[in-house]
Amino acid sequence: MLCARHVFRCFKWLERAGDRITGAAGPYFVGLAVILQTIGAASFFTVIQPSLPLRWLTTPPCVLIALNLFTHYYYVCTLPPGFAQDEALLPGSGRLWASPSQRTSAGVRWSNRGITLLTASTTACRRCGLMRPERAHHCRICGRCVLKYDHHCPLPVGINQCVGLNNERHFVLFMAYLVLSTFFLSILGYSQALEAVGLTYSNNWPYVVPQLAYILTYMLSVVICIAVFIMLSWHLWGIARGETTVEAQDHEVYKRIARARGDNFVNSFDLGKSTNLRLFFNIGPDRYPWYTLILPLRIMPYTDGRSWARREGFQRHQGIQEGEELTDDDDDDGNDDA
Ligand SMILES: [Zn+2]
Ligand SMILES: [Zn+2]
Repeated sequence: MLCARHVFRCFKWLERAGDRITGAAGPYFVGLAVILQTIGAASFFTVIQPSLPLRWLTTPPCVLIALNLFTHYYYVCTLPPGFAQDEALLPGSGRLWASPSQRTSAGVRWSNRGITLLTASTTACRRCGLMRPERAHHCRICGRCVLKYDHHCPLPVGINQCVGLNNERHFVLFMAYLVLSTFFLSILGYSQALEAVGLTYSNNWPYVVPQLAYILTYMLSVVICIAVFIMLSWHLWGIARGETTVEAQDHEVYKRIARARGDNFVNSFDLGKSTNLRLFFNIGPDRYPWYTLILPLRIMPYTDGRSWARREGFQRHQGIQEGEELTDDDDDDGNDDA
């Protein structure tokens, strides 16, 4: 028993050390990610894009993808994820903000048509002692409670902060544009990659980007495209099920608890795949227009994080009773990926 406790303490110490290293190394990952994205864009626009046919037609979408990539990356790194003790985010104005399709009294919030928005219950955080609404979790690295906490993201794409209510949309769109841009670089830059490694008869390399830099960028693009595509698919699957990364893990435990009782666990935040996705991206006839997915614009989330859309007739999840919900301590003991 004593031995097990020592091993557990040792693991906890290693975990804390890992958090400290992650927190300290975060800014370097961001720097590295910016350098890699810049080299990738330079490689594409100086080596690949000049050889594309119908350049007047192919250049605008390429520029749009690059703009989206850099802008969503900037937003996901700089927009606070939404801390439980902060004032609710207010809609901004200016060129970088999209206008809602139809102005409602709240300006940009989800209308109540067919959707039940219920005020979230609150609990005291055992770490910081402050009250936070349902779906908020305490981040060990940030040391604060984050609204609709998904995960703290230092790796592998270098965000260096939490992904939560206010920046989760930018996180997912950044991954989507990263997959798109690396996919096009990998497909369209194939012949130049063969040229750069000397597998063609021409020894001519008339580009600004050095051959070695291009080869490395190309190889990295292929790897990132596959890896981030898997991550993106995983996230989109979770969004379609109405779950954050933490909730997806918690719900597996809840399903087991409910099953042991002969009950079924039902996630009350799951309003059906299409509604869940539209809520996440906050698009629809009485919300924001669809083009906010392809233009690098800011929009408001459908909620301020203090109330949530729930299934009709549900006040809470089915199959899990009060007091059975996992806490951040339980998550830290094996379920948290933060
Ligand atoms: Zn907290
Ligand atoms: Zn964090």
